[in-house]
Amino acid sequence: MTDNVYSTICPGCNFGCGLYIRENGKSEVDFRKSSPANAGKLCRFGMSLSRLYVPVKSMVDGKETSPEEAAKEAAKRISAGKGSTAFLSFGNTTSEELLAFQKVAESYLCTGANFEALPKDAYQTLSVGIPYSEIEAAKHIVLFIDPYEQYPLIVRRLLSARKKGAKITSVWWKDMPLADENIRPADISKLQLTKDSLVIADFHPLSDVEQVKNILSLAKNAGAKITFLKPFANSTGAYQLSKDVKQKSMAQLVEDINKGTIKTLFCLESDPAELIPKDVLGKLTNLIIQTGQASAAKASVVIAHEPLYKKKGTLINNEGRAQALGGAGTSGLDALGIIAGAKFDFNSLHESVKKALGISAVDEFTIPKYDRPAYGAIQAQAKPMDAKPALIDVYSPFMWFNLADDNDFVEVNLNMVRALKLLKGGYIKIKSNGSSLEKRFRVAAVQDNVLLAGRKFGIEKGTITPVEVSR
Ligand code: SF4
Repeated sequence: MTDNVYSTICPGCNFGCGLYIRENGKSEVDFRKSSPANAGKLCRFGMSLSRLYVPVKSMVDGKETSPEEAAKEAAKRISAGKGSTAFLSFGNTTSEELLAFQKVAESYLCTGANFEALPKDAYQTLSVGIPYSEIEAAKHIVLFIDPYEQYPLIVRRLLSARKKGAKITSVWWKDMPLADENIRPADISKLQLTKDSLVIADFHPLSDVEQVKNILSLAKNAGAKITFLKPFANSTGAYQLSKDVKQKSMAQLVEDINKGTIKTLFCLESDPAELIPKDVLGKLTNLIIQTGQASAAKASVVIAHEPLYKKKGTLINNEGRAQALGGAGTSGLDALGIIAGAKFDFNSLHESVKKALGISAVDEFTIPKYDRPAYGAIQAQAKPMDAKPALIDVYSPFMWFNLADDNDFVEVNLNMVRALKLLKGGYIKIKSNGSSLEKRFRVAAVQDNVLLAGRKFGIEKGTITPVEVSR
């Protein structure tokens, strides 16, 4: 059997790491050293991609069918529910598909981000990050992320900056080994920013908008640079392509499903189970998922097509770099064409993508020029954290993609171990809203009263969940 080799981009976050997927009966990951974002290196998630890309089948009400029949059924249900259908895509597919999706969505498009609640003039700052070379050249870097767990390939850039003399400050619930200074989120007033500082935060569907505003405001007041990483491969593409389109927030979508004004939800390459509670999804008449990888949510219609690495199209990474996928597949576009009632032409969508980015060709070695307008002063009041115990989810590619990971423990500090008299090698009992579980624990330099988790346990209520703890 001859190998099929695809030059592609990891979907685990929008750092934009290049790699090869080799197919020969099974799929394997190979390093692509020429990739400008990662020079061939991959994190644990990138190395686990074969597990993500398990084949998925088209289904209608639990019965297997062809993708065309599933798309026709989806078209029927969407047209029967005109005015009560919402369209959700976090941006984990090609820019060409996202443009077609926008045309299908008409008036109810949700990209998962809550732009409605954020200052409009900060849209561009939130959408496109700065080139990674600027991270390596920074004098003072302030991290509002856990780089090791969340965006691992940034660690190389941070270490390179440090080697050149940069000071690294971490504002996090746990000490970061590469930081010169560790500040707890509750002690943010101790943070000293200057115009030489570069703030690195992240922005995703579960971001607390007050916290995002607070970080934007801190950077603005100090004249510091700021860049936001994002969890889906083409989040930047999704935001750039829909900047002139009215976007609904996740909170609005959940409210509309609860009210019954939205009865059908169509998700493109996005698993709603990650963000919409099960009981809310259960209120929908139709959940339609178009995807190239398995989803945890139970859909009434699944339109299955090729996985991302087999698609033809363009992704935009966090720096704004346009990257071509090495596949030839357009069956995702074909399915959207059936739903729209008119075939989508890849070439004309591709031209529109290039026009939106102001480029004449997709070249991963050149970052297009982006407007980076300054945003105005922002009033922000970050909520002080309760002094009571809280379980904090550190969202990582494994969590966003619902992929099993070995992080089946919580990190707590020695004070909590002593106060609860936890036994070495034993468990900690965690209770929240009537649910309780026992988890193994690890001792780490974590903030008092914080339990850090790199995996969801099913009792969470957002990123920070108040809990009761005992032995
Ligand atoms: S998850 Fe992010 S950092 Fe890891 S390999 Fe994929 S793109 Fe790179």
